[in-house]
Amino acid sequence: MDKISQLQEIINNSKKIVFFGGAGVSVASGLKDFRSKDGLYNMKYPYPPEEILSHHFFINNTEEFYKFYKQMLNTKGIEPNIVHTFLTKLEESGKLTAIITQNIDNLHTLAGSKKVLELHGNINRNYCTICNKFYGGDYIFNSKEIVPKCDCGGIIKPDVVLYEEELDYDTLSESIRSISEADTLIVAGTSLNVYPAAGLITYFRGNNLIIINKDITSFDRNANLVINDDLKRVFSSLKI
Ligand code: ZN
Repeated sequence: MDKISQLQEIINNSKKIVFFGGAGVSVASGLKDFRSKDGLYNMKYPYPPEEILSHHFFINNTEEFYKFYKQMLNTKGIEPNIVHTFLTKLEESGKLTAIITQNIDNLHTLAGSKKVLELHGNINRNYCTICNKFYGGDYIFNSKEIVPKCDCGGIIKPDVVLYEEELDYDTLSESIRSISEADTLIVAGTSLNVYPAAGLITYFRGNNLIIINKDITSFDRNANLVINDDLKRVFSSLKI
């Protein structure tokens, strides 16, 4: 049996599937992978992306932060792909209990998924650093000023987890709970090198750990099934 048929059989026989997704899921929709070595930032930005997307950089170089942020993380024109829509249908069928994502682009919610645990936040949530007023993503990406400001004059900060910042406690504990109760964990589009992905996977107690990624990961030897292939190709072959 080929690997996609094996995956199909596991999905058919599973009752509580959790999907854990990384940048590869968004890249399949055409989003830029700012972490990749050939990412655009290499040409244009004098700092590495981990530096720009850090807490101290946001505080000290807010204008430089927003120049990068608005160019690299704007999802205008980006649509959910077959991975997102498959997961929405899988959730509707009652088999998928949670999507845990490292992405901040809102594409799972846009595809119609309900239980989406966003470890690193969401670009559509933004708050004034002074009065805490809420602003949507459009306000940030459409603002004429480089640094978006609140009515009160305060600088607005995206509700995304920057380097040096803590993950949201509730999101993290709910992710751990979902993973520990799952019978199948599908990890896709992540090298599992970014904190806290590797740590979360150790909470899995189920039978089927599946890794789908273009490149090999450090967890491949722990998995029951490893598919090193294009995500869109894999998910377009699956049926609910
Ligand atoms: Zn304000």
